[in-house]
Amino acid sequence: MLGLQAGCCPDVASGRHLIYGREFKNAFDEDGNHHSAGRLREVPWVAIPPVVKAIRVLEKFAPAEGLLFDAGTHTFVNTPTRSTASLRFTALHSRIEAFAAWASHLARALGRDGEVIPDDPHGPIGLARFRRTLAWHIARRPGGLVALAIQYGHMRTAVSGGYAARGRDGIHQLLDIETARATADTLTTLHGDLTRGVGISGPAARRAIHAAAQAPAFAGSIRTRRQARDILDNPALTVYDNQRSFLMCVYNRERALCRRLDSDDAPRLDRCRSSCANIARTDHHAAQLLKRAQILEKQVASEVVPGPLADRLTHRAAQLRALADRHEHGRFNPQEPTS
Ligand code: SF4
Repeated sequence: MLGLQAGCCPDVASGRHLIYGREFKNAFDEDGNHHSAGRLREVPWVAIPPVVKAIRVLEKFAPAEGLLFDAGTHTFVNTPTRSTASLRFTALHSRIEAFAAWASHLARALGRDGEVIPDDPHGPIGLARFRRTLAWHIARRPGGLVALAIQYGHMRTAVSGGYAARGRDGIHQLLDIETARATADTLTTLHGDLTRGVGISGPAARRAIHAAAQAPAFAGSIRTRRQARDILDNPALTVYDNQRSFLMCVYNRERALCRRLDSDDAPRLDRCRSSCANIARTDHHAAQLLKRAQILEKQVASEVVPGPLADRLTHRAAQLRALADRHEHGRFNPQEPTS
């Protein structure tokens, strides 16, 4: 990232933006000489819209054809007007800390204390931990704070796809580990819920119960990529919590309605379809459906929403209530005797 230059992400008429960066670690010529200036990566990164925007902002103050993180431009005191180096790691560390302080200040100023970033008992975040944090969010928060409008499936495909021609290293490994941990957390929570008598429904409910039964075997034990792959490659354990759609996706490739022919073997949680045979819901999801329906109905009742939008919200609220109703009629608990 520190080696990116202005112009690294050309505008495109259609399709995805690509970022052309350099690699340094393996930049050897045929005689084994290392090129300290690096060489162009064979596989560009696929850029998602917020990244393209960030690059456009950086290009506004980077030197022409210079580095996006040019040290002279980004360091505000006692620096030469023109430099050939980028910011150093230590500078980036302090920028991350400054960003966290700024975000917390803004949250307090807006009265959103729940969004203040708490002090970290393990010290400064630094680059490695920041990257791990990103992986955590990508793996667990479809539509969450980092993913925002970027959809989970797209983000994961976009990030990992850029590494497809290389070994599964760097953030790809982290994504594997965090995705496996997210799966383990989902299954552990489900296992606990079912034990406590929480009901489950949906065409994939039995498969979800079967997967949850295996949760105690690996809960809290995923530390290496190999352990992560053992879980991710096990088709009986591919359960994803889809908070946006108030359901669990018990992924089976053959039954997936979101699957595209060219997609990899992962659900497109952002394109979830309510008639899919991979859906399971618990009482918690049903409660969330009703809560969301109430919020929409309240918005409509407030009469500040214009007519056509109010109609859409009313329709959506009715759909959510119908899904909750369907859960109520189909729910069961594996501990309860069947009639
Ligand atoms: S459509 Fe089916 S496979 Fe795709 S995310 Fe939804 S439940 Fe999963």
